[in-house]
Amino acid sequence: TSNVTIAFPSLHVSRPSDLTLQPFWDYIIFNYGFAVKSPFFPVFLAFSCFFFYSLPFGILDILGEKANFFYKYKIQKGKQADIQMMGLCMYQTIYNHLMFVFPAVIVNWFWMPPAPLPVIAPSLPDFLFGVLGSLLLFDFQYFIWHLLHHKIHWLYKNFHAIHHDYSAPFSWATQHLGGMELISVGLWNNTNPILLKCHPLITWTVALVGIWMSVEDHIGYDFPWGLNHIIPFGLCGGAPAHDMHHQKPHKNFAPFFTHWDIIFGTAITIE
Ligand SMILES: [Zn+2]
Ligand SMILES: [Zn+2]
Repeated sequence: TSNVTIAFPSLHVSRPSDLTLQPFWDYIIFNYGFAVKSPFFPVFLAFSCFFFYSLPFGILDILGEKANFFYKYKIQKGKQADIQMMGLCMYQTIYNHLMFVFPAVIVNWFWMPPAPLPVIAPSLPDFLFGVLGSLLLFDFQYFIWHLLHHKIHWLYKNFHAIHHDYSAPFSWATQHLGGMELISVGLWNNTNPILLKCHPLITWTVALVGIWMSVEDHIGYDFPWGLNHIIPFGLCGGAPAHDMHHQKPHKNFAPFFTHWDIIFGTAITIE
């Protein structure tokens, strides 16, 4: 056995100690390698997540009081989105993708050609710390951006006011954003994985989780199974916190967690 160790020492160096995610990563590379390598894959992933996360809440909004089991958790009762509002948000989302997202992907493709996908999966601790670290970094970046865009009137009027068209948010309004907001968010989503040296599996998971948290912020229902109830110590703001931001726009600037609003004295809980 000592011969094997001497003959292939690099195997022990390049492989992480923890291989929990390796079979899953192998499965993705083997079956979907061609698709996930495409520069449009992150956009496709983000758009389909947004669509499929938002759809059930859109149906709940249409059903309203008829789905009383869910409606009893509605935060601003009587303020439901109708089909026309949902349609306008969808139009805005598609317009933003055609005008800003797709051109940015193409520019990025030329500027930074995609690196080949790694063969090795991240270790489980790397994966968990990477996902949490990326969410915390994005939360901080958006908090600062958001605070400035409410404190400086010119920034608010030109770049963020559009997101506040609705004082009672609903799932489809998550993407009711101006082009500049979308570009800022897109810039962090593109540079953070490089900054934190994230494995693609971490980057994609951050997208899955981050988009869920953003949609949940806007659903307008305080469900007992919401992240704000599941994650202890009120660390996560969830729908009640962000719904309050749409009602009182000078409070609750952080998108995911509560610590920055507590530190800056801008936190407010639902009344
Ligand atoms: Zn919002
Ligand atoms: Zn705002």
